[in-house]
Amino acid sequence: MIGARHSWSDIARTREETDFVVSLDECNEVLEVNKDKGEVRVQAGIRIKDLNDALAKHGLALENLGTIAEQSIAGAISTATHGTGISFSNMATQVLGMKMVLSNGQALSIDDSENTHLLPLVRVSLGCLGIISEVRLKVVSAFRLHGRVDTTKTLRYVLENLDTYLQKHDHFKLWWLPHQEGVWIWELNRTDKALKSNRLLEWFNDYFLGRIFFGSWLGFLERFPTIIPKANRFLQRLFSYNERVKRSDKVLTHPILIRHQEMAYSIPIEYTVEALKVIGEVIEEEDFKVSFPLEIRFIKKDQNALSPMYGRDTCNITFCMYDKKQYKQYFERMERVMLSRFDGRPHWGKMHFASQEELWMRYPRWIQFHSLKEMLDPIGMYSNTFIERLFGK
Ligand SMILES: Cc1cc2nc3c(=O)[nH]c(=O)nc-3n(C[C@H](O)[C@H](O)[C@H](O)COP(=O)(O)OP(=O)(O)OC[C@H]3O[C@@H](n4cnc5c(N)ncnc54)[C@H](O)[C@@H]3O)c2cc1C
Repeated sequence: MIGARHSWSDIARTREETDFVVSLDECNEVLEVNKDKGEVRVQAGIRIKDLNDALAKHGLALENLGTIAEQSIAGAISTATHGTGISFSNMATQVLGMKMVLSNGQALSIDDSENTHLLPLVRVSLGCLGIISEVRLKVVSAFRLHGRVDTTKTLRYVLENLDTYLQKHDHFKLWWLPHQEGVWIWELNRTDKALKSNRLLEWFNDYFLGRIFFGSWLGFLERFPTIIPKANRFLQRLFSYNERVKRSDKVLTHPILIRHQEMAYSIPIEYTVEALKVIGEVIEEEDFKVSFPLEIRFIKKDQNALSPMYGRDTCNITFCMYDKKQYKQYFERMERVMLSRFDGRPHWGKMHFASQEELWMRYPRWIQFHSLKEMLDPIGMYSNTFIERLFGK
């Protein structure tokens, strides 16, 4: 199964040339809207951006989103795609029910009236249980967000006041460029204020600085990596984001227009301060030159078997690299830190190199998920190399 193919990992890649890829791109309808109950039923191939527009027409919205809205809803929930905000869980938790087509051709309905006990197992399915054809989702009344980015504080200051930041802002995240102290603090809050947006400034900040300038900048630094620490100090001051009040999805998401590599690890929230300190130290000690910001987000725990946020409030740290040669070394080293010191769990849709042994012990319900996979797909119709690495052939 493929959604929008926005995963960095091999999760949506076929095993060999003879395998088939199934896409539900044309199954993209909103089937039912129940405003009173705060629920919608959609075909699984719908892109989140199209769902956002459809919901807005009914005065509804998804309660939280990741940074982009290009993904299909099935792809996003199958990998536990998340945004930020410690009062909000990842997108899979919004699933109230789904319909699946199994490898034997039978349909399986799972919701609050049928097979309810399977919901926590199938919400984050990594595409290996069956074809998700329909999804029933919890939605909320449409809301506005006020978004601003504070560039005046240091990482140390924010970490010393982390609890205050987490409580004060609905959606709070950090971008941190290594080799310097400054940090970009994203503060997004629900508001009744009048809409406020400056299209020209937004184009300048989001597209011109974010794509044209930053793209050339990273290309230049790839050729001259030794100047990255100095360049990061300069960029920290240059970054700009104009305050805005807009429809929620237009503030929660913003364009990511630079092709790059990503790995992300979820760790228990109480390790945040120590983990960022160690990451900074390892980057300097091992002389990695990192020109792309780390993204630090916070997500509420849930009870879905393969969710990286299973059972623990989470800090998610995203490691990014533009450099096509150095990223593997950097990611592998950071992954060792995340696994060995901070009980990290990788994002299923982003790169990671952890072994089956390292993964299953971190998920208390791994065996139950595996058994369900064996039962629903005994012939491995929905497997690929990625899935075989996790569960064997
Ligand atoms: C620029 C960018 C920004 C991103 N930002 C974030 C972010 O903010 N937060 C975050 O958590 N992640 C983020 N991601 C990762 C992304 O959300 C996930 O990788 C997501 O799974 C991609 O969705 P997709 O529709 O492209 O699915 P694909 O990558 O195509 O597939 C992902 C999984 O879903 C399965 N699948 C797809 N459709 C079905 C179906 N109908 N039935 C069963 N299984 C199915 C596939 O088999 C596969 O296992 C980002 C990725 C990119 C490229």
